[in-house]
Amino acid sequence: NDRIEYLRSKLAQYPDFPKKGILFEDIMPIFADPKAFGILVDLLVELVQKQFKEIDVVVGLEARGFLFGPTLALRLNSSFVPVRKPNKLPGDLATISYKKEYAEDAFAMQKSSIKPGQRVLIVDDILATGGTAMAADELILQLNGNLLGHVFLMELGFLEGRNRLKAPTFTLFSGQ
Ligand code: IMP
Repeated sequence: NDRIEYLRSKLAQYPDFPKKGILFEDIMPIFADPKAFGILVDLLVELVQKQFKEIDVVVGLEARGFLFGPTLALRLNSSFVPVRKPNKLPGDLATISYKKEYAEDAFAMQKSSIKPGQRVLIVDDILATGGTAMAADELILQLNGNLLGHVFLMELGFLEGRNRLKAPTFTLFSGQ
């Protein structure tokens, strides 16, 4: 598909960033090019409309899930709400801590941002080990949301992160 190839041509790879041995995929050039960003949003809308009936809430993960989550939500006529790192959100929060490769991290969400039974889609840029998205899954379940699935730009398939997630997972393309 020409549109996928155009998007792929915008990705840049940086070896040994942020640590030795990691090949970092930089997705920012997509947002530097309005044609690429338009294609990205169109492809995501088509994917979501094909795989899911109706989405009430698009949940974006800090930080790169915030780059296109709100635009996707607008196109789907859904709410957008953020999942954030600790000490960023005010008010009554649901929280979860999770393991990253070398450290612990935590996520928080405002309790009022999802009503019980709402149909929720989680979005982020890259699925690697799945630890980040799995923590977001737990938050949605704590709030009694109806977790329908996940959409990522890209997955690092060899890490098999999708096997850890609690709902169907779709990606535009695979990396590495
Ligand atoms: P996971 O928790 O191992 O699945 O890692 C996914 C998280 O790390 C996502 O929030 C991504 O934004 C980030 N991430 C992992 N690998 C890359 C990369 O190569 N480029 C940019 N972000 C990455």
